[in-house]
Amino acid sequence: QDQEPALRVTDVDVLYGSAVSALRAVSLTVPPGGVVALLGANGAGKSTLLRAVSGTLRLHRGAVTAGLVRYGDTVLDGRDPVAAVRAGVVQVPEGRRVFAGLTVDENLRTGGLGLGRRAPAQVAQARERVLTLFPRLAERTRQAAGLLSGGEQQMLAIGRALMASPRLLLLDEPSLGLAPRMVDRIAEVIREINAQGTAVLLVEQNAGMALSLADHAYVLDVGEIRLSGPAGELARTDAVRRLYLGEQ
Ligand code: ATP
Repeated sequence: QDQEPALRVTDVDVLYGSAVSALRAVSLTVPPGGVVALLGANGAGKSTLLRAVSGTLRLHRGAVTAGLVRYGDTVLDGRDPVAAVRAGVVQVPEGRRVFAGLTVDENLRTGGLGLGRRAPAQVAQARERVLTLFPRLAERTRQAAGLLSGGEQQMLAIGRALMASPRLLLLDEPSLGLAPRMVDRIAEVIREINAQGTAVLLVEQNAGMALSLADHAYVLDVGEIRLSGPAGELARTDAVRRLYLGEQ
């Protein structure tokens, strides 16, 4: 785990098109093997930050116009998703986006495609890991992904990302729209993935869940980092309790 690099986002500005400023001077670090939570209201810029790291910003007509995104020695700003995946950084997009018409197994096979030709044994090992982590998927490998429940689709989306054997997993609101029991299950899985040595950057509107998992957390507010600190400390601040934990 000590060999694993840190993610460093330094003073990043992001623009969509030529006018919509989505992030301003945002800095954030995910240490090797860490779990970092990124909280914030709708439209605060959380997904934008993940896209700036995973190289998917351009697909949304956005660009990093200032600052740096580095994973260890690898420059990620201005690159594409293949560059990020090769560096070991993989995003699970918001809203799951599994291929509804493909089977569970076919969806898993699309994970890690950006890595080029890999040894079959390596792919088989990644698949085994995913099916061990998600027994519900193991029972449904030949079922169309569109027939899975929302929670199962989220598991599949995470499993597909794990097929690329990431060192840093970027998760965009994995709890969105899921029943409380499924949210607990997803939280357990994130803990397990991290225990196996994968660092996690977790975007969530469910601040309670995110703060219970994270070592460190940041709060984004209209494109700027407003608060940051150890997750336990942030969970005790008045602003976070009121705005994000739903307390009075
Ligand atoms: P949500 O939880 O709703 O996804 P978020 O915190 O992830 O919110 P972003 O999706 O990153 O926020 O959006 C940040 C800002 O950038 C918002 O004002 C949004 O309207 C704008 N934005 C996002 N994508 C685009 C785009 N493709 N083109 C123009 N503006 C965009």
